Amino acid sequence: MIGFNKPYFTGKETEYIIQAVTHEKISGNGLFTRKCHDFFQKRYDFNKVLLTTSCTTALEMAAILIDTQPGDEIIIPSYTFVSTANAFVLRGATIVFADSSAQNPNIDASDLEKLITSKTKAIVVVHYAGIACDMAAVMKLAERYNLFVVEDAAQAIDSYFEDKPLGSIGHLGCFSFHETKNVIAGEGGMLVINDKRFAERAEIIWEKGTNRSAFFRGEVDKYTWMDVGSSFLPSDMIAAFLYAQLENIDDIQNRRKEIWNNYHEALLPLSEENLLLPYIPAYATNNAHMFYLVCSNLEERTALINYLKQKGVHAIFHYLSLHKSAFFQSKYSGHALDQADRYSDCLVRLPFYYELSQSQIRQVTEAVSSYFARKTQISLSL
Ligand SMILES: *Cc1c(COP(=O)(O)O)cnc(C)c1O
Repeated sequence: MIGFNKPYFTGKETEYIIQAVTHEKISGNGLFTRKCHDFFQKRYDFNKVLLTTSCTTALEMAAILIDTQPGDEIIIPSYTFVSTANAFVLRGATIVFADSSAQNPNIDASDLEKLITSKTKAIVVVHYAGIACDMAAVMKLAERYNLFVVEDAAQAIDSYFEDKPLGSIGHLGCFSFHETKNVIAGEGGMLVINDKRFAERAEIIWEKGTNRSAFFRGEVDKYTWMDVGSSFLPSDMIAAFLYAQLENIDDIQNRRKEIWNNYHEALLPLSEENLLLPYIPAYATNNAHMFYLVCSNLEERTALINYLKQKGVHAIFHYLSLHKSAFFQSKYSGHALDQADRYSDCLVRLPFYYELSQSQIRQVTEAVSSYFARKTQISLSL
């Protein structure tokens, strides 16, 4: 069976963890945390970054930083992971769900304005599959209505909107290093602070609401409780693992792009009649986070996934739209979110990981192709 995901180890992870241990400082904000921070600030020219224990907690920090209050409305795509919404629900916000675009699962920026009210505080975009949302349109709206923009860039490492790295465009950006993402640390994440007004407070919230970071830099002579906060920083052992991955980011990205291109080339002939392949707008790059297909309906998707399973291929679907979730259903205003529903019903993700071999890629694409060839034969014989 070809599994859906397999975490890739570059080889130096355990060596760096041993170095962190030998360094005798394994709590947060240590040597490897600083190495990771430097890496991101240099490579992507991010203003300020803070490693977090997950993208979920980076989103929670973002919700605190924009001062989310009960009654504030936060616009979020319905077709996303629960953490995008939960971070703001935890602070008492009202979630207003936006639909996805018909071209890809990203938020439909052309349809956002009607959701904005006097209570709207922020728009949270999700760069699905690492493909940029229409950030020019989103930022323009945010400026006009004086809203914050938070980028859920969990899947979007090393990807761009025009020449801007994703995560660097909104006021705040959130990344994930969960083992299912391109660059991993087991569980891990990062907050990118683009709006300089948030820089100092972000560090305090990150360190349990204290000014310990400033104390360690010798900027204050004692540290104390300054603000709300939590333990949002990961242990330096997590950072050590992550640093080994970051040193190999180009190799990881190159291999993933090869796999993506192989899938695309092999499946392109099916795309007109049977399936939609990922759509990448001209303003977006592809970071090869995932390869997905959009079937014509739920029955087709179920049949395809079952067929692939028989052929030894573990394909999956995900994201039951949040407006239809057990938690939110009763709170949902009822406005139609047709595209979110469509992706919930029709999207399939193919196995995708660094070590997928050429013969495994062929096995996957041949299985998808034979499903549709078989279907055509059945309908011809009827
Ligand atoms: C993976 C993911 C998250 C959660 O990331 P964690 O690091 O596991 O907390 C949030 N949003 C999106 C869109 C994701 O894909």
